[in-house]
Amino acid sequence: MLRIGLGRDLHRLVEGRRFVLGGVEIPFEKGELGHSDGDVLIHAVIDALLGATGSGDIGALFPPADDTWKDAASLELLSIVWEKLRGEGWIIVNIDCVVSCERPAVLPHREKIRETLGRVLGTGPGPIFLKGKTGEGSDAIGRGEAVEAVAVCLLERR
Ligand code: MG
Repeated sequence: MLRIGLGRDLHRLVEGRRFVLGGVEIPFEKGELGHSDGDVLIHAVIDALLGATGSGDIGALFPPADDTWKDAASLELLSIVWEKLRGEGWIIVNIDCVVSCERPAVLPHREKIRETLGRVLGTGPGPIFLKGKTGEGSDAIGRGEAVEAVAVCLLERR
């Protein structure tokens, strides 16, 4: 059985926060506002995995009202989610993602992000890919006020 999942997330960019993407901290003057570390890419990936398997969504599993997850490392949340799904027999075929932000540039960090996600998911970097886009100066992304991530995954269960 093959299942496709789709996830999307957006966080505001503000001063005084770290910019964490796919578990990798990128030096930048602003960072993602959020209850956890605000890692928009991991949040999109988690929702894609949960969507593919019909397992709910990130807000239901890790409620913002629950202080357990305040300032949580999203990489840890991904690990918890994938341990559960892997235990149910799911295998990752591939994950593909787009991150949209005006700055910082994502491309220089792509390989480190792929390796980091691939380590937590147990796939290695091969089945995980990532592109960076800008907002072309339009909307909140283009004005540097927000960062967005979209992720799709294909999972298999035999
Ligand atoms: Mg989020």
